[in-house]
Amino acid sequence: MVNPFPYSLDNKRYHTLYYHLKRLFPERRVGKAAVDAGFTCPNLDGTRGTGGCSYCRSGGTEFAGSSALPVREQVERELLRIRRKWPDAGAIAYFQSHTNTYAPADRLRALYEEALAVPGVCGLSVATRADCLPPDVLQLLGELNRRTCLTVELGLQTIHEETARRINRCHSTAEFLAAYRALTERGVRVCVHLIDGLPGETEAMMLETARAVGQLRPGGVKLHLLHVLEGTALARDWRRGALWPLGREEYVRVVCRQLELLPPETVIERLTGDGAGEYLLAPRWSRGKRAVLAAIDRWLAEHDTCQGRAV
Ligand code: SF4
Repeated sequence: MVNPFPYSLDNKRYHTLYYHLKRLFPERRVGKAAVDAGFTCPNLDGTRGTGGCSYCRSGGTEFAGSSALPVREQVERELLRIRRKWPDAGAIAYFQSHTNTYAPADRLRALYEEALAVPGVCGLSVATRADCLPPDVLQLLGELNRRTCLTVELGLQTIHEETARRINRCHSTAEFLAAYRALTERGVRVCVHLIDGLPGETEAMMLETARAVGQLRPGGVKLHLLHVLEGTALARDWRRGALWPLGREEYVRVVCRQLELLPPETVIERLTGDGAGEYLLAPRWSRGKRAVLAAIDRWLAEHDTCQGRAV
């Protein structure tokens, strides 16, 4: 059977991370080794804001390791976990929690080198904010990029400033664009995070964000569903009836139409939200991740479309 889309090995109609990693590392499986290096965030410590983004339980708490452990030990533990599924697999060390360039460049270098020195680590993924990339950090990332497989993950969520204010993002879309340019000028691959279902956003606004990001032709995109988590500012809005999370059908349609707006070469690194776990208040349907992914496949097939169709 002929694949309906060239950048997939399993009949998906979007550019899968599996395809991307297989092309980069044909000889073995590669997983993500999540690391919590104990960073904070300028949107939590008062430098740019306090309280954080309205959906944030202060960073990627759900899937990251414990910052009480040295980076090396966290990566080794993650490698063991990955190798229970795929013996001999390699790993990309994923600095996931909070803002992973929010420290002096020397300290960052030491932490990244510690992860890269673990046998089996074949790359680095660094999640950060656009306003935390000063020149010396950019230089460090450019240097690392020349000798390892590096991705910098930038949280944009939306291009709409009005929404950014509502969610207390505390940096502008112009800052995102400047950071994106600075990274790509140095050859660094960027993966952009977007969130669907943000307060006040219409489907048209979410599609505008996807279109604008698609025009940048990023290396990767992560599409998240907005989760309402216990303990967040969003949870208060949801409890007083001021926030309506997306329904499953709506989310599936929006994501598929966004995929049509993203270039086929852009790797889709995530298609649903993650990190909800025990704190998830809404939407409850998002717990059925497989069902959501299957519904996305169905929608694309039924509409005989695929990623990049509307670029
Ligand atoms: S930038 Fe990230 S870590 Fe900081 S408040 Fe927002 S979501 Fe949380």
